[in-house]
Amino acid sequence: MALQRPKGTNDLLPDGSPKLEAFARASAHEWLIGKARGVLERAGAQRIDTPVFEEAELVKRGVGGSTDIVRKEMFTVYYFGDHGGYVLRPEGTASIVRAYLENGLKQLPAPLKLWTSGPMFRAERHQKGRYRQFHQVDYEVLGSADPLVDAEAIALMVDVVRALGLRGVHVKLGSIGDPEDRERYNAYLRELFTPHEARLSDDSRERLARNPMRILDSKSAGDQELLQDIGVRPMLDFLGEEAGAHFAQVQDYLKDWGVGFEIDPSIVRGLDYYRRTAWELHAEGIGAKSALGGGGRYDGLSEGLGGGAVPGIGWAFGIERLLLAVEQEGIELPRAGGPQLYLVALDEENVPLAARLAAQARAYLRAEFAYRALKPGSAFKDAERRGAVWVGLIGSEEAAQGTLSLKNMQTGEQRTLAQSELGSLTPPNG
Ligand code: AMP
Repeated sequence: MALQRPKGTNDLLPDGSPKLEAFARASAHEWLIGKARGVLERAGAQRIDTPVFEEAELVKRGVGGSTDIVRKEMFTVYYFGDHGGYVLRPEGTASIVRAYLENGLKQLPAPLKLWTSGPMFRAERHQKGRYRQFHQVDYEVLGSADPLVDAEAIALMVDVVRALGLRGVHVKLGSIGDPEDRERYNAYLRELFTPHEARLSDDSRERLARNPMRILDSKSAGDQELLQDIGVRPMLDFLGEEAGAHFAQVQDYLKDWGVGFEIDPSIVRGLDYYRRTAWELHAEGIGAKSALGGGGRYDGLSEGLGGGAVPGIGWAFGIERLLLAVEQEGIELPRAGGPQLYLVALDEENVPLAARLAAQARAYLRAEFAYRALKPGSAFKDAERRGAVWVGLIGSEEAAQGTLSLKNMQTGEQRTLAQSELGSLTPPNG
């Protein structure tokens, strides 16, 4: 059998490919990133790009040693004679904060808004909506702890979703407090779970020792059943005064701007560096993998990476997830158009002329040419298959007179055009 792509990865394919799903359409990815870029750049965000592999230590410190991502899902990169100290990035935030510290971006006016888009890698059990290489759009704001920045980040996420035309999307908002609040909550959870230790999954027994909050996030059905049985108080009950006031302000801003949200006390983001505001966006009807994206404040991250104190907040959308939701809502995706002008020579000696004229016409239009001479009937069939708008035939007569015989495949209109007048051709639908 021919070689196949690695499990859990997708080829992003051209339009018209057989059995093509939206999340694997290269043009759909481009479209989505373009919409997100529009929203984010109008709000003052600038593009940043970091390597797709990083020092393992950065990811370990940035994402947190007790997370599933670091413990089970890292792709390690080796090259000849290497120590294997690199990993493919599982998310964008740690890299962006590293780049901010390393390149002196602190000198730019704060808060600094950055965005990026690209592939992320996690060795997860793959299924629809969950891949080992997936793509994200990320937005990060560095240098401000103001709740106004939190509210704006959430509102921008909602703006992106709206720009895509999605309607059935909910914002679930929570707060995971400050580190001392979490310590109190973890102490409470440890006390609560210890008598039930025998019922916990192996993973959660380990979590009980390291970071009990993570048990709430467990994917194990047995753990979830136990949670139901014993009734756990939410993190929100444990917010300290400052984190509580911050959370209230974020909500006030969102209400003021008419950005809908619901409080979800169960939000426990899987990443260690989060502080205070945490949220997720969910879509109706795409099943268990309904999280389109999530974000949170991470004021402790910069110091964790060995930099000074730099408050930060950010979010990431999963592009494939968004495209699943777009498909689910029946939103029509723009398709790559066929040639606006398709030039066909009727005899072999005029093929180079068709090529030359197509090259000239590309100053104004999407123009292609047939690499072999065709008879008019075949030329029209070929043009139709390619989705061409205008077909320009060049026979010996047209070559001698410096003209083209044009036919509009959409309207049936036919006329003769001087080759020197190609610039006057304005196709319908741009
Ligand atoms: P996270 O960095 O875990 O908060 O993920 C942010 C978003 O990226 C999620 O809400 C998903 O939309 C998407 N995402 C995360 N992991 C995967 C994956 N393995 N496959 C596809 N999308 C993912």
